[in-house]
Order: sequence, then structure tokens, then C-alpha cells
Amino acid sequence: MYMVKKEFHFIDTHCHLEDDEFNSRIDMVIQKASTQKIGMISSAIRPDTWEKGHQISKQYDTVFLSIGLDPIQYQYVSEASEFISKNKDEIVAVGEIGLDHYRIRDHRQREAQANAFKNLIEIARELSVPIQVHSRSAGKKALDILEDMEAVNIHMHAFDGRSSYAQKASRDLGYYFSIPTSIVRSRQKQKMVKAIEIERLLLETDSPVLGPEKGERNVPSNITIALDEVSKILQREKEELREIILANTLRLYQRIK
Ligand SMILES: [Zn+2]
Repeated sequence: MYMVKKEFHFIDTHCHLEDDEFNSRIDMVIQKASTQKIGMISSAIRPDTWEKGHQISKQYDTVFLSIGLDPIQYQYVSEASEFISKNKDEIVAVGEIGLDHYRIRDHRQREAQANAFKNLIEIARELSVPIQVHSRSAGKKALDILEDMEAVNIHMHAFDGRSSYAQKASRDLGYYFSIPTSIVRSRQKQKMVKAIEIERLLLETDSPVLGPEKGERNVPSNITIALDEVSKILQREKEELREIILANTLRLYQRIK
């Protein structure tokens, strides 16, 4: 068996193709993106969807697998570690993993969540793969844990913290930040994109959520909408920016070939 070098124009660095939202349309959705030369990193984050995500990535050569754990399901951390280890040669990343202080309010539960996060950071380190980080209402806390652990190859997805934190982490620690399609309707993302070092910029759709229209199902082929918006905000030529972002993506995701 050999790998075919793919000529991607874009990589949607974070989406959830195993989500039930896609069930009957999965083939259509992936074909549409593939025709536009869009590669996809699909992140399966629940015990009941890991295997489904794994199968999808085996079926389509434009889909790459990331295995993580929804931060509200921190109690499944050992199952997650086990699934990741079992499929260690087939994943391109660990994630999304992280903290969700929006959905978890209790102090002790937040502590357990942080411990699960740390455990999975260790696994990613052992495997030398990038980490996709979820940090809802806990941006600073997540960055502090990563820095304390001297974690490397970090991809902060849909970061909702302050622009100044994103600026510092991208500049001083070399963390990557992906801008979702929802940038067209999010002032926070519009502000943040200007703060991130351009060499650390990635794009994502987070499909089926975070679409350009609130509440409407998002798809990986919408990644071009994120590029259009970023190009407008940064006042950089679209094609030049696309090349920079693709180079950033392939620099971080070395298992994508
Ligand atoms: Zn996600």
C-alpha cells in the first residue's frame, strides 16, 4: 500500500463528519468538498462516534482522523486513551480535547475535566501528534495548562478568549489558531484574526456547527467563506493568503501527505 500525494487547495482543519447531522448526506458532503480540493480533519469526540469517525476516514482519502474527548465527557478519559492508542498510526491528531467552563460550572467537575485534559495532552506527546484544543469560556486556563506542560504542536480551535492571549500564544509559544466560518458574524473572531501571527493562522468550519448563518448546518465546502472574510479583514490577496494558510496547516499536520 502507498500514499498518494494529494493536491489540496484547502484543509478544513476541524470538523465533525461523524455527527448524526450528516448521516444520509455524508457522501454528498465529502464529495462536494473533495471536488473543490478540500481536505478535512474530522474530529470524533464521543465514545459512541469514535469508530464511526474511524470508518469514515478509512473510506475517503480526503478525510483525516482526529480522536478526542468532548470536555463534558471527561469521565471517559481512559476509554479515550485506549481508543487513541489502538489507532495511533491512523490518527493525524489528538482532539478536540480541553476545557468547557460554559457547560461545566461546578468547581470539582472542572478539576476532573482539567485532569482528563492533562492526561490526553500526555498521550499526544507520547505519539508526537498535534493537539486540537477546545476552550469554551476557559481560554486563559487552557493556555496556562498547555504552557505549564510545555506542550507542543498546539491547535487552538474556535478560541473565544481575548485577542491579547491569542496574540501572545501565537507569537511567543508558536500555537496555531483556526478561524471558523462563523467569523462572518462574530466580532470577537474578526478582532482576533488581526492579533494572530500570520504564520500560525489556520481555517476550520467545525461542521455541522459554527456556520456562516447562525443555526444552519455547516459543511466543509464553506471553508472558502472563512478565507474570503479573513482576506477582507487582513487586506491580503486571497490566493496569497490561501497558500500561507495551507503551508501553515501542512507544517503542523505532518501526517497529512
Ligand atoms: Zn468541534
